[in-house]
Amino acid sequence: MDVATRSDGRLIRLLRTVVDVCIPNACLLCRAEPKAPDDDLCVRCRRLVLATRVDYCPRCARSIAPYTVHDGRCPRCRTRRVITVGRVRLGEYGGALADAIRMFKYGGHWELDRCMARLLADVIHTAPWLAQVEAIVAVPTCWQHRLRRRAHATTMMAPLVAQACGRPLVPLLRRISGGPHQAGLSDDERVKNIRGRFRIARGVTLNAARLCLIDDVLTTGATLDECAKILRRAGAAEVYGAVLAGVG
Ligand SMILES: [Zn+2]
Ligand SMILES: [Zn+2]
Repeated sequence: MDVATRSDGRLIRLLRTVVDVCIPNACLLCRAEPKAPDDDLCVRCRRLVLATRVDYCPRCARSIAPYTVHDGRCPRCRTRRVITVGRVRLGEYGGALADAIRMFKYGGHWELDRCMARLLADVIHTAPWLAQVEAIVAVPTCWQHRLRRRAHATTMMAPLVAQACGRPLVPLLRRISGGPHQAGLSDDERVKNIRGRFRIARGVTLNAARLCLIDDVLTTGATLDECAKILRRAGAAEVYGAVLAGVG
């Protein structure tokens, strides 16, 4: 973890303690309703976040109509190469889940790190492949991003997710550059745009390791697959993926 994020984490925990003392029961999303015991959200917000759960493909994690997965593939990924072996996600990117992610990623509400990490860890615990996973790997951000926003949502969640899943967090990947944003690109353009953006950390070889990549939002899955490709080339046997939300 980079120094900026580590110091941000300490500051956030301090601020959270101050907020907890001043407003001991405020929901992190609506700030109005009292939160449930030992939860970061009120009952209503938790229900709204979980209401974004819809059927999704266990291979590509895109939303699907019921009963459209055959032989583990949906119509959207049936003819596509997918490098991760399996994927889980909490919900579809929309409603209260999208609001929470936007607050966390872009709104400076870094105190949501524990809440988001708990939601992601809960999802990973539902994965049929969790027993195979030996370690968690976070999709990294580039230094330009760290410089601009100082903290990065996935990086902040990662140690908490790993702890909740009882797996080590291993810093295996580096992001070489941010490059043009993925927004507005077609599926094929996204794959091309993300190609070559990651590399394996210096000196790392993976002895047939089974790893779970985590990220906040999945659009086409191009980022997960690019990271999985790098990990496989370095010797990983299988790479799985887990995200908070999938865009359709
Ligand atoms: Zn609430
Ligand atoms: Zn699929």
